[in-house]
Amino acid sequence: MLVAGGAGFVGSNLCRRLLDSGRAVLCVDNLVTGEMENIAELIGRPGFRFLRHDIIKPLRVDGPIDEIYNLACPASPPRYQKDPIHTFRTCVDGTLNLLALAEAKGARILQSSTSEVYGDPEINLQHEGYRGNVNTCGPRACYDEGKRAGETLFWEYGAHRGVETRIARIFNTYGPRMHPDDGRVVSNFVVQALRGQPLTVYGAGLQTRSFCYVDDLVEGLMRLMASSAKMPVNLGNPGEFTMLELAKKVLFKLGSDLPITFMPLPQDDPRQRRPDISRAAELLAWKPTIDLDQGLDKTIAWFAQRLKSDRMKGSMVS
Ligand code: NAD
Ligand code: UDP
Repeated sequence: MLVAGGAGFVGSNLCRRLLDSGRAVLCVDNLVTGEMENIAELIGRPGFRFLRHDIIKPLRVDGPIDEIYNLACPASPPRYQKDPIHTFRTCVDGTLNLLALAEAKGARILQSSTSEVYGDPEINLQHEGYRGNVNTCGPRACYDEGKRAGETLFWEYGAHRGVETRIARIFNTYGPRMHPDDGRVVSNFVVQALRGQPLTVYGAGLQTRSFCYVDDLVEGLMRLMASSAKMPVNLGNPGEFTMLELAKKVLFKLGSDLPITFMPLPQDDPRQRRPDISRAAELLAWKPTIDLDQGLDKTIAWFAQRLKSDRMKGSMVS
């Protein structure tokens, strides 16, 4: 079993679940957004190995591999926009390298695609048949178009080269082991509130997202890998919230009266997101089990602990 991007947020949660279920895991990561801290407690566990490697370079692995999860790619807009060409190459060259490895090893391979393939959607409730509305020449294009190209490569290897391919279209996911400075909205709001800083809402905060707790996503990814689904499958939680609602929820949970600061809306920021998960229900018998309130409680508790341990490390260094 190989998990590319296994030191990142989703990847490290997946590696832990796979190890707990008795699988041996080779975690491959270049640590561009992932952290060794995410996998520190896995190192030394029987069956776990880590390889620092950038997937845009070909990857040689000795021995058999039965399954490959490709989670390698920065997912936060400020992070993937930092080196857009590298992001695009990760999605295209990196995906090709992993597909070649899957072909050579006879492994099944799962791609972490994204709701971003729908761009700024013209339909509420995005189903897999919707072909999307993506700007090819804008700050999000390196990621959105890279992920679309990744799906095409997966489709080709599946249809014409006999590789067993699976495609997960992941909607906004949050939870423990997000990087505190990741830049995505849930980690930003929770970390800002815990640090006593104003919450930064972009635009008027009326744009919506549907937030899935990471444990639910990991369960969906494992079910998809085990399934016979040939076509892309949406994985997400259909509960839909405005960013203003999310900010107020976080403040309410912390009993905080911190102010909300309104900042400019980034270019091409999608106005709406909500997954139609009927295909996942039908093919994987999957649906999320943790709602935003429960998930936020767990996430806030994890970040409180993480910030405390960061402060302790900081005071030991200084
Ligand atoms: P993340 O940034 O926390 O993790 C990505 C991991 O991939 C990091 O450990 C990073 O170091 C590694 N990586 C990046 N480029 C690499 C490269 N070229 N070679 C090797 N390793 C590389 O992001 P995440 O939220 O854990 O997302 C994981 C995957 O799921 C990504 O492919 C992302 O596109 C997809 N996804 C995530 C979400 C979400 O909301 N979390 C939504 C849609 C899609
Ligand atoms: N957002 C926000 N404040 C922040 C970070 C993000 O209001 O501090 C908004 C952002 O403009 C977007 C939504 O929250 O409308 C989700 O952003 P995120 O970066 O988490 O994911 P994505 O835009 O890729 O869905």
